[in-house]
Amino acid sequence: MNIEVVKTFIQFTSYLNLSNHFKMIVKLNLFAIVVLIFTSCNSNQKNKNENMKDTFEVNKSEEDWKKQLSAEQYSVLREKGTERPFTGKFEEHYEPGIYTCAGCGNELFQSATKFDAGCGWPSFYEALDKSKVKEITDYSHGMKRTEIVCAKCGGHLGHVFDDGPKPTGLRYCINSVSLDFKKKDSSSLKK
Ligand SMILES: [Zn+2]
Repeated sequence: MNIEVVKTFIQFTSYLNLSNHFKMIVKLNLFAIVVLIFTSCNSNQKNKNENMKDTFEVNKSEEDWKKQLSAEQYSVLREKGTERPFTGKFEEHYEPGIYTCAGCGNELFQSATKFDAGCGWPSFYEALDKSKVKEITDYSHGMKRTEIVCAKCGGHLGHVFDDGPKPTGLRYCINSVSLDFKKKDSSSLKK
């Protein structure tokens, strides 16, 4: 080995030894950065959870939802699944009454606004009241859609599109499994 290279190596090593203090500072800074990242992640998660709590009146743990709902209801309402088209119990259902949230009983749609969209899911041209549902922009599956959730429990209902009939031009495309039904005579239908 060339003597110059050895000299340089020794110098470099002694420099490293001399700069232990410097290395310590670097290590401490790295540690501080890692701690900061963790703290900010945790506080973001905390804020998210708190926002969810603030947003919905009915707020249950996932375990409680699993106990209350069937596996299919849980998959659609809580995990934003979609039932297979033309399989839902309310797709061809036209009795007068009110459709409620299968998660919390919130009254969502009335039969008078239901129409046959031919898409395989129950469709309504408007919600019973704007305050009954909440719209969330949904970027899943490479599309930009407007998701509809129950405003009371946050349960996933379906999506709303702007290709519906008059008078609103809207099409609320809703999973049957997210809904229950109250017949007109046993409901508080406002008409
Ligand atoms: Zn609900």
